[in-house]
Amino acid sequence: MQQVVTIQPPEFLPRKFKVYQHRQLDKIEALKRVPEEMLFEMKVVANVLPFRVNEYVFNELIDWEKVPNDPIFQLVFPQREMIEPSAYDRMATLMKNGGTTNEIFNLAEQLREEMNPHPAGQVEMNVPTVDGEPLRGMQHKYRETVLFFPSQGQYCHSYCTFCFRWAQFVGKSLRMNSNDADSLHRYLEQHKEVTDLLVTGGDPMVMRTKKLREYLLPLTDAKYDHVQTIRIGSKSLTFWPYRYITDPDSEELLELLETLVKAGKHVSFMAHFNHPQEMRTEVCREAIRRIRATGVQIRCQAPLLRNLNDDADAWAEMWQEQVRLGMVPYYMFVERDTGAKRYFEVPLYRTWEIFRDAYQQVSGLARTVRGPSMSAGPGKVEIQGVTEIHGEKVFVLRFIQGRNPAWVQHPFFAQYDEKATWLHDLKPAFGEEKFFWEDEYAQMSSMG
Ligand SMILES: *Cc1c(COP(=O)(O)O)cnc(C)c1O
Ligand code: SF4
Repeated sequence: MQQVVTIQPPEFLPRKFKVYQHRQLDKIEALKRVPEEMLFEMKVVANVLPFRVNEYVFNELIDWEKVPNDPIFQLVFPQREMIEPSAYDRMATLMKNGGTTNEIFNLAEQLREEMNPHPAGQVEMNVPTVDGEPLRGMQHKYRETVLFFPSQGQYCHSYCTFCFRWAQFVGKSLRMNSNDADSLHRYLEQHKEVTDLLVTGGDPMVMRTKKLREYLLPLTDAKYDHVQTIRIGSKSLTFWPYRYITDPDSEELLELLETLVKAGKHVSFMAHFNHPQEMRTEVCREAIRRIRATGVQIRCQAPLLRNLNDDADAWAEMWQEQVRLGMVPYYMFVERDTGAKRYFEVPLYRTWEIFRDAYQQVSGLARTVRGPSMSAGPGKVEIQGVTEIHGEKVFVLRFIQGRNPAWVQHPFFAQYDEKATWLHDLKPAFGEEKFFWEDEYAQMSSMG
């Protein structure tokens, strides 16, 4: 099952980045293999949810013999059940009746609004200010960590069908971003409690090195000593590993990473892998080797998704493979309550079982992974287990991160419920009326 990692680094020829977007499904040669009806369904959904795929993904990551069950096919190509049947029918009808581009766009906007585009209060809450001005491209939810969304990184090399940030990729009105390196730097300068900067997107690794350098290199100045860690969230190891090998500025990118490390920062590359199949190509492995050679640590995180990776063996293999390639398993997430959730959601009890069954198969080095974790309004809530206490079956939960740091690592209990898929479905156990954090959280939410 496993391939051997070659000792001699292979040679790679420069690759042109060829990408296809939602009106270009017909141009993708590989899709000529799928039945016509399915292709139409894909086009309907691609009008609503973001769609973008590049040649590397469909030529080298997908096993077309297994389509539609291939996990990478599910990761990037839209499926009919990803949107509500009524939404599907409205869009399909409009398309069959020859709706104009404008009509399709307007209907799409409407349907998207019904899909919870901004889960966990992403827009209203967590917006920091500098000198009284709100910074739309930043979020500061947990004391130690600031999230930064550079405006040039507001897309990805390909799009995941389950993306929780999907609203950013469609329609300007929903977008949140920042192009202001200056306000990032000023904010960090004024907030000495911040130890971690998390650069996210979209995917910041779609940016040219020159831009990334403008944001990151100034942080090596002594006035940012408190910012110990720079995290970069990216799915480029899956979608475009050539970024680190043959892109025109890939050498400079690796040099920038090395410079940050040598200046005393801990740089953590937060890789997003959903399935072991993403790590099997030689080019991905070479990209991992090159990033690690700069002194950057790679940590891995991903949501658990029905129809894609709801399988303990796949997770165990993925974590083991990550350790073997020198990466650190970090988080397993619960699929968020947004976008194509209806297609991907797995009940919490089942998510926990899969986590447990995978965790039991791996050695301690892979048990650095935490989860399954819900990134909800009040914080990151981990499902620690299912147990029975005095005859009542309960979920055991804890905060890994809390809007109030004092909530962290404080166990709490919810009634066991096989239908629950998210924190807001859970009710306190033992006849309690509220969870211990609820009043305080309600107060925080009302303050915005
Ligand atoms: C996950 C997350 C972080 C980082 O949390 P860690 O536990 O340090 O990994 C920071 N901010 C937000 C909004 C997050 O969701
Ligand atoms: S890589 Fe991340 S931000 Fe980009 S589409 Fe996938 S989940 Fe969304």
